[in-house]
Amino acid sequence: MIIECGDNIYYPLGGASYVFKDNLLEYVHSKLRKNNLKISIGAQPNSSPHFGTISVFSLAFSFAKEFHKKYKDINCSVIFEVVDTAPSEQIIINSIKYQKNLKNTGIIDKYMPQFIEILEFLKNKTNIKYEIRYQKEYNAQNEVKKVVHKIISNREEISKYLDYKYQNLKIRISCPKCGLTDKNSINNKYNENIITCYCPKHGEFKINYYKDTKLLEYSTPLRNLIRGMVYGNINKSKKYDYEIIRITGNDYSGFYQEELLYKVASMLNYKVEYLPMIIYCPLITDWSGAKLSKSLYVKEGAYSDLPKYLLNYENLINIKGYFGLEKIYEITNEWIKEPYKLFRNYSIYYFMKRFEEDER
Ligand SMILES: [Zn+2]
Repeated sequence: MIIECGDNIYYPLGGASYVFKDNLLEYVHSKLRKNNLKISIGAQPNSSPHFGTISVFSLAFSFAKEFHKKYKDINCSVIFEVVDTAPSEQIIINSIKYQKNLKNTGIIDKYMPQFIEILEFLKNKTNIKYEIRYQKEYNAQNEVKKVVHKIISNREEISKYLDYKYQNLKIRISCPKCGLTDKNSINNKYNENIITCYCPKHGEFKINYYKDTKLLEYSTPLRNLIRGMVYGNINKSKKYDYEIIRITGNDYSGFYQEELLYKVASMLNYKVEYLPMIIYCPLITDWSGAKLSKSLYVKEGAYSDLPKYLLNYENLINIKGYFGLEKIYEITNEWIKEPYKLFRNYSIYYFMKRFEEDER
């Protein structure tokens, strides 16, 4: 099938693009209470960064740079929360799903250098500093303990939302001997501050989640809830000299956050107004409008009709060199400078066109 299209690009206003079309930075600034602003981004380093991940990273630096340019008294930096607890291997034993995470299989070591290369490029381009935080360090924060305690105490009620299907609170702990983790937390038991977990090879093991918070792993919706409440607590507390806002992909906007973050936080008597602001990065879609996914999640040979450089960072840098990152940065800058361009998605062909424009 050949699709003919013209050169016109339209930006019809509606929803957030109507309200914030030319004053996004001003709006964010009006809500700040502190002089240090951290822009949080996250990723699971289980493959070479794909186009969507690179755009989120680039948008975070574009935002930080433009924000600091406009409000010189506000220091901006980027914090990359590495989800090294994401699954990289799955097995089924006695009809129960188990997984090993990226850290335990060592897969993370293979791909982290590419993520760091992108961060370094963006730092040099913008003069914006960044920090990298692994789940262990993230979990070690005092604020996490308090939030996790609240969540475990109310697990029955909130699991109906967070895990509608099985109604389990998906807190996971890897077996200290072999790294196997009960994916759906089927066999977890809770007693005061103790979580008892089960490994099919080594039997039961226990942790005290107050003392060993750093060992906790979460499903994505649960991690999202905890992060929201933790950031919110940090933002309103005078103990911390910074505030955090989040930049993430547009696939997490709307129904997902409303049902799994805002309503659940409110059920925990958490004041929703304190939850951190989330700016959604436009999705990069294929011809049909679906998110251009990591090769990991779509069938082999997918996207074989696209130029290879559009598939992941490895290809981008090998084929286009740093020009590839320059181009993406130029585009995310436009999204921040002209926010009516931010509140929508872009097809990969839009990027192809922008790449080709420059090469002509
Ligand atoms: Zn084990």
